[in-house]
Amino acid sequence: MAEFSLIERIRRRAAAREDVVLGIGDDAALLRVPPGRELAVAMDTLNAGVHFPDGTAAADVGWKALAVNLSDLAAMGAEPAWCTLSLSLPQADAAWLDGFLDGFLELAAAHRVALVGGDTTRGPLSVCVTVHGLIEPGSALRRDGARVGDAVWVSGTLGDAAGALRQWQQQGVGVDPALRDRLDRPTPRVALGRALRGIAHAAIDVSDGLLADLGHVCTASGLAAEIELDALPCSAALAAAFDRNTRRALQAAGGDDYELCFTAPAEASAAIGALARALALPLARIGRTVEGAGVRALTADGTPWQPARAGYEHFG
Ligand code: ADP
Ligand code: MG
Repeated sequence: MAEFSLIERIRRRAAAREDVVLGIGDDAALLRVPPGRELAVAMDTLNAGVHFPDGTAAADVGWKALAVNLSDLAAMGAEPAWCTLSLSLPQADAAWLDGFLDGFLELAAAHRVALVGGDTTRGPLSVCVTVHGLIEPGSALRRDGARVGDAVWVSGTLGDAAGALRQWQQQGVGVDPALRDRLDRPTPRVALGRALRGIAHAAIDVSDGLLADLGHVCTASGLAAEIELDALPCSAALAAAFDRNTRRALQAAGGDDYELCFTAPAEASAAIGALARALALPLARIGRTVEGAGVRALTADGTPWQPARAGYEHFG
């Protein structure tokens, strides 16, 4: 199958949106940005063997490639609108592409995101997605907006994806399906990000590990954070699979969670509680911002705790 039949296969399945003036098929897409909105743009790449285990189902690769990008828009409080897709494939495998599109377009439909263009090349399996979202001027959830005395919050549970990866790397250990699902099919917290506009001071999505990502918020905002390890939200599957210290390391530094970590003034606690109920999504208060620099993780008696490694870093 040639490049153009692959592209045609993609074009046939890509859904439209009324603000797409021209989608797949020309030299560039034409998109209508509504008046009074800014464009939020984010890009993330998934490389086989680095961002997902070799042999991951094509549909899961498709889902995750879009999910990690939507997670970035969520962390800004933006509403997803359009995306482009650069696919590098070792061979023109129509069955793999169809599976990939199943996962990718399922998530795209759920968030009304239109696939409007891309690039298709031959090479090692790699998927690069750009997402475009819309945001009301001045209302984005930036990393530099945290203030001393804010509460630090996180959505969902932490450490599940890293737990699955840990089990997958261990010889003779089965991977818990609930943990594996969190690794393969992360849920971008788009509705939460939108709802946090006007409530949160700062936000980031947890991709490299809570301590590392919260560290970026601290650096950008010029302050420090203290995290209570016992307050980190933990799934039943993770609690059942690992001892306490391993679990803590996975939750604090594992990464691949795609939950939102955000800071908000103490007065916002009731509003955040109401939001958790409205979205049926647990939101846990895990610490606070203080003067200084860096992130400190504390055990119940206030002892500082450090994981063996702080977070995932390419070239690290
Ligand atoms: P060009 O040579 O102008 O870059 P291409 O042959 O790369 O054009 O692509 C033709 C059309 O197909 C363009 O509109 C492009 O955006 C779209 N396209 C190519 N690959 C993909 C892809 N993987 N996903 C979505 N659209 C794609
Ligand atoms: Mg091209």
